[in-house]
Amino acid sequence: MRYGSTRSNIGRADALRAVLTGMAPDGGLYMPEDAAYSEFDWKSLMGKPFQEIAERVLGFFLDDFGDLRETVDAAYTGRFGSADVTPLREVGDRYVLELFHGPTSAFKDVALSILPYLMVKAARALGETRRIMILTATSGDTGKAALQGFSDVPGTGITVFYPYGGVSRVQELQMTTQQGGNVRSAAVRGNFDDVQRTVKEIFEQTAKGDYAGADRVVFSSANSINIGRLVPQIVYYFKAYSDLVGLGKILPGDPVDFTVPTGNFGDILAGLFAKMLGLPVGKLVCASNANDVLFDFINTGVYDRRRPFLKTDSPSMDILVASNLERLIYLLADGDKAFTAEKMRALSEQGVYEIPEPMREKLAKTFAAGRATDEATEETIGRVFREYGYLLDPHTAVGWSAADGYLRENGNARPMVVLATASPFKFSGAVRRSIGLPELPDEFAGMRDLSEKTGVPVPEGLAALKSLPVRFTDVIGREEMYGYIMEHLK
Ligand SMILES: *Cc1c(COP(=O)(O)O)cnc(C)c1O
Repeated sequence: MRYGSTRSNIGRADALRAVLTGMAPDGGLYMPEDAAYSEFDWKSLMGKPFQEIAERVLGFFLDDFGDLRETVDAAYTGRFGSADVTPLREVGDRYVLELFHGPTSAFKDVALSILPYLMVKAARALGETRRIMILTATSGDTGKAALQGFSDVPGTGITVFYPYGGVSRVQELQMTTQQGGNVRSAAVRGNFDDVQRTVKEIFEQTAKGDYAGADRVVFSSANSINIGRLVPQIVYYFKAYSDLVGLGKILPGDPVDFTVPTGNFGDILAGLFAKMLGLPVGKLVCASNANDVLFDFINTGVYDRRRPFLKTDSPSMDILVASNLERLIYLLADGDKAFTAEKMRALSEQGVYEIPEPMREKLAKTFAAGRATDEATEETIGRVFREYGYLLDPHTAVGWSAADGYLRENGNARPMVVLATASPFKFSGAVRRSIGLPELPDEFAGMRDLSEKTGVPVPEGLAALKSLPVRFTDVIGREEMYGYIMEHLK
C-alpha cells in the first residue's frame, strides 16, 4: 500500500516507512492512497477470534510487513485480562466495548502492545541500524501504554512528555515509576496541546536530519499520528460487530452505531476506517467533555480552538487541537491536499477554520456529536451504577452520556455500542465521588475500598504502583523539551 501525506506529495512512503517515521516530512499525516477498501472481505471475519481479525486488518494496511501471525500473538495472546482481548458487555439498553483489559488499563494498550513489534520489524526490513527514539506527548494514557510497550525493547528508547498537573494521580505514578533501561518521562509546564504541538515541531525539525547524533538515532512517534497506532484500533470495531452477530442481536449487514469518548480523534477515526472497509457502521457519535471543540465542529463546520482549555474529570480527553481530525478533513475533501494544508495552516496561525456546508453535510451523514460536563459525567456514573451495577470510568461516562442524548433524539432502532476506554480504578477519586463514597486521602486505600464496595477487582498493574519507586521527577518548560531530548541522546 502506498501512503502519502495529507498536505503535499512530498515524502510518499510504503507502510514500513510510514510506521517507522510516524509522520510525513512536510508536517502532514500519512494516509493510504491506493487502498482497495471495497475488496476487504469483512464477512469472513464473523465469529473469528480477536487475533485472527487483527491479522487480517493489519495485513490489509501493513501489506509489506510479511506474515503477522506471530507478531499478533506475541502482542495479544495472554497479555490482556480477558481471553478475547476486548470483550463486549450488554448493559441496560446498549453494549459496552471494554477496551481496558490491557497491562495499563486503558484502550491505548490495544495499539501500543503491538506497535513496538511493528516498529522493530519495519526497522529490520528497511535496514535501519540506528536506534529508534520514540517521542510521545500524552494526555495521560498513551504515555504509560507506550512506556510499557517499549520498555527494554532492543534498539529502541522512549521519552514521554505529559502536562504538569494535567493527568490523574494514578496516571502520573504509572509514568514516573516505569521500569526499563531505555525509558524516561518528564512533566512539562503547559497543557496537552502545548506538549503535542512541541513534539510535532521537534519531529518536523529532526526530519531534516541535522541534529547531533543523527548518525546513531532516528526519531519516531507512538502517538496516533502514527498509522501503526491507528490501524490496530480498527480491529475491535470488527470484533464488537462479530460479537453482536454471535449473540444473535443482529444479522451480518445490519447497521450498528458506536459512541466514542474522543480527544485526539484517533479512536473514532479507526471506526471510520472500519466503515470504509465495509463494516455496517451506522453513526459514529463523537463524545466530548467540556472541551467541546469537536462538538461545535461537527454541528457547525467551524473548528475554533480559541477558547479556554479546561481541566476535567476525564483528563485524557482534555484536548483542543485534535491531531487526527486532519485525516478526516483530508477524506472529506476527497484527498485534496492543498485544501487540507490550508486548513491546518489556518488552525495554527489563526486558531480557527471552517469547512464548506456540503462538506459538513457529508460529515453529518456518518458523525453525530454529544458532550458532557463534569456534573453530567458524575451523574451518569452514579446512575449507571445504581441502575445496572456497572461501573463506568469518567471517559466512558462522557460517552454514555453522549449516547443518551443521541438515543433520545434518534430512537433506539439500532444497537448502540459505547467504547469503554479506561478502567474506573485509574480515576478512583472522581468515580468514588460519583457513587457517593467519601474522599479518601490515600489513592490506594480509595481503590481498595472502591473494589470492596463494588465487587470489581482492582487491576493488578494499578495496585502494584503503590510499592514501586518513583524514578522520574523532572518538570521542564516547553522550550526545554528539545534540549532535554538531545541531552538524552548522549
Ligand atoms: C486517549 C483517550 C481517549 C481519547 O482517544 P482519542 O483517540 O485521542 O480520541 C479517551 N479516553 C481515554 C481513557 C483515553 O486514554
